[in-house]
Amino acid sequence: MTFELTGPRPGDTLSVSLYPGAFAIKIGECEVYSFDGEGRPIGASTGDRWLRRGLDNTLVEKRAGTAARGWQPLPPTEADAHVDAIALRMADLHQAVTQGHYRNPQSAIPPPLERAAAWDSRRCRADAARFLRLFHRVPILPPDQYLSLVLQPTEGCRYNRCTFCTLYRDRPFRAKSPEEFRRHLDEVVAYFGRGLARRRSLFLGDANALTLPMADLVPIFAAVQERLPVAPSDLTPAQARRWLSAHPLGFDGIHSFLDVFSGRKKSAAEYAALRRQGLRRVTIGLESGSAPLLQFLRKPERVADAVELVRTLHRAGVSVGVVVMVGAGGDRYAAAHVRETVAVVNAVSLGAADFLYLSEFVEHPGSDYARLAQAERIRALDAAEMAAQADAIRAGLRFPAQAPRVSVYRLSEFVY
Ligand code: SF4
Repeated sequence: MTFELTGPRPGDTLSVSLYPGAFAIKIGECEVYSFDGEGRPIGASTGDRWLRRGLDNTLVEKRAGTAARGWQPLPPTEADAHVDAIALRMADLHQAVTQGHYRNPQSAIPPPLERAAAWDSRRCRADAARFLRLFHRVPILPPDQYLSLVLQPTEGCRYNRCTFCTLYRDRPFRAKSPEEFRRHLDEVVAYFGRGLARRRSLFLGDANALTLPMADLVPIFAAVQERLPVAPSDLTPAQARRWLSAHPLGFDGIHSFLDVFSGRKKSAAEYAALRRQGLRRVTIGLESGSAPLLQFLRKPERVADAVELVRTLHRAGVSVGVVVMVGAGGDRYAAAHVRETVAVVNAVSLGAADFLYLSEFVEHPGSDYARLAQAERIRALDAAEMAAQADAIRAGLRFPAQAPRVSVYRLSEFVY
């Protein structure tokens, strides 16, 4: 539903669009602000500048003409200033509308204006503190899951020693007890409030929740199913779309990351049991098909095990997302990385329900990777070489029937 209002001057227009769990306010031709259903600011655009805000109060910015730099995080004081400016803009608009300065054919005052005006930097910071108490942080999700509702039956990464990865260094691995997880579930639902309807899938965090034994996972999936409506398994894509439109607060299924090497391996029958409880897609950090590069990355997976894991999930009817790191290992490993990665991806027969993510490698200063690369005089690939490597991987891919969705994964752009 959209409210269209006309202001006192020519071209002075205001539209308020309501979406499930969110709303957007457009002023004139190019000023747009978006909010979740509670009124938390989540995005803004002024034609030549775009802002996205995460629930942890991170604000990232992109400006016209600087596409190569991508999204850049803003310092907290600058982020606060933007948030306050948005709240003030909404308060002014609300006042102008209530005082009759806008012609409003629908006669009702669009309710979200006042709600949006209440989210100044102080409230946003307090809300972020509540979010961080619930989640620590959500440092990464697969790109197709940026809008999922994250639930954390586990925190951190069981392994946590890959040289390039700093995502979970701030927390030890731990699994929540069933009671704690149920409490977490209630608190997450309460936290999102009217913003919940914006989230249409569920993601079990953090890095490798599915490595828990079945005896722990089955009650976790059951608790999710009891608390939230999840689409039945085995729907066709068209049936799933119909189910979602009939259930405005429903979720299309449960997604999660999984590493190849932690915990006891599960059988296809066990994954099929989880599929019946809602498991839809598992995202696996393959990173590379090259064993020497994996060794350099200190990722203790065997390529044959990665292939077997994808095949097991497929046999269970669970789709997969495979992550490949473009540029990992710099110039030293480039040729083998492309050759062996293409061979592994081709071997696992990805299909239309699967994803292949080409993740642009980011070298974190001070990481073990940076130290080792320097010691071994490995040169990082520049942007053109990274693009060429991604093209070379794409060029080598062969899929048996319908191709999976192949998308670029830029960690630096992620906000939750
Ligand atoms: S297994 Fe995954 S999450 Fe854990 S350290 Fe390695 S890359 Fe990071």
